[in-house]
Amino acid sequence: MKAAVFHLCFVATVAWAGAARLGAALSVEERAIVDWLAPRREEMTALLEQAVKIDSPSENIAGVRAMGARFATELEALGLTARWVDLPVESGRAGHLFAERKGARGKRVLMIGHLDTVLPGGKFVRNGDTARGSGVNDIKGGDVVLIYALKALQANGALADTQIIVAMTGDEESIGSPLELSRRSLLEVGKRSDVALAFEGGIPGEATVARRGSSSWQLEITAVTGHSSGVFSAALGSGAIYEAARILEGFHVELRKLPGLTANAGLMAGGAEASEDGFALNARGKTNIIPAKAIVKGDLRAVSPEQVKEAEAVMRGVVAQNRPRAQPVVTFEHRYPPMAADARHLGVLALYDAASRDLGLGAVVANDPAKRGAGDCAFVAPYCAVLDGLGPYGSGAHAERETVELNSLVAQATRTAVLLYRLTR
Ligand SMILES: [Zn+2]
Repeated sequence: MKAAVFHLCFVATVAWAGAARLGAALSVEERAIVDWLAPRREEMTALLEQAVKIDSPSENIAGVRAMGARFATELEALGLTARWVDLPVESGRAGHLFAERKGARGKRVLMIGHLDTVLPGGKFVRNGDTARGSGVNDIKGGDVVLIYALKALQANGALADTQIIVAMTGDEESIGSPLELSRRSLLEVGKRSDVALAFEGGIPGEATVARRGSSSWQLEITAVTGHSSGVFSAALGSGAIYEAARILEGFHVELRKLPGLTANAGLMAGGAEASEDGFALNARGKTNIIPAKAIVKGDLRAVSPEQVKEAEAVMRGVVAQNRPRAQPVVTFEHRYPPMAADARHLGVLALYDAASRDLGLGAVVANDPAKRGAGDCAFVAPYCAVLDGLGPYGSGAHAERETVELNSLVAQATRTAVLLYRLTR
């Protein structure tokens, strides 16, 4: 069924010239932009293949830099000035690509992609109308859509005097620490833009005006230890593992009352001793010793900044009801902020929806934030009207079998190009 939708989209895009009704709402300039993009599927696929063959998981500094250099060449050819922003070596991340053209016409637009992937890759497998490889959909396909929307305007003289910044971070999938430093440049360009368009993978008929944030939490419990025969007593209490179980059950009951929020308990260890070692937790103990230590690590995804605070308060409340002889402490680390749907974002969605309808490509509505992971666009949401999910359609992002529907490259670039044209008049 999905394939049928893409096929129709593509046919509608290339066939608009023969259908006066579809083109009626487009200006002459917009028709020229659409015409320029219509036959570009193979050209876009070729750039995508080159990009996917540059292996660039977040930790691969050389790969992410090479990806940045490749896209910088494309953007400079369009008259944008590219610059590389290094991150400190200690961050373990390569840095970011920014490219900018200065002008005063219409809205100041920020276009957001990224250079890194979750999984290593370097292989691109084409199979008819689809392709498979690490990053084909998240987000190298989206980067290609971004670049071709700009190319279509440039080819038709429509970039003149526009103010456009392209931001492609090198650590979107695994942000470099400290966060304040790794997102400083993105915030800076967000503050001097009006609208931010982000090119994470698209969903047919939908775009993103709200994303959940991403935080992590850690629970550490220390308890009185002793011979197991004394467990449950007033003197020895019940140990760190029972206390962890109590708290987790409390989180499970209370946090599920917050609409749209999820909190995963992802990793746990408890015993006479428990310690952390990177992504691992180690525990030692015996069944006849009351456990002195327990550690639990988890994540938290909330729909709004207010909900993050509410969840934190709920969790601290559960933790505070500790049983005798156990001392639990919960700590939080907030990574991606949530982006709540508001009138500014819905305004850009309305323009995008109108562009899609005018193209004969159907309506576009807001998707459910629960379907989306966290994203870079949330950092600039306080300053810009944001629309995300403008990349191509596909499946299996962050998984071995990530695929992209190649026809959707053209359809999505066409929607973005018309939106960009209208924003910058
Ligand atoms: Zn992504």
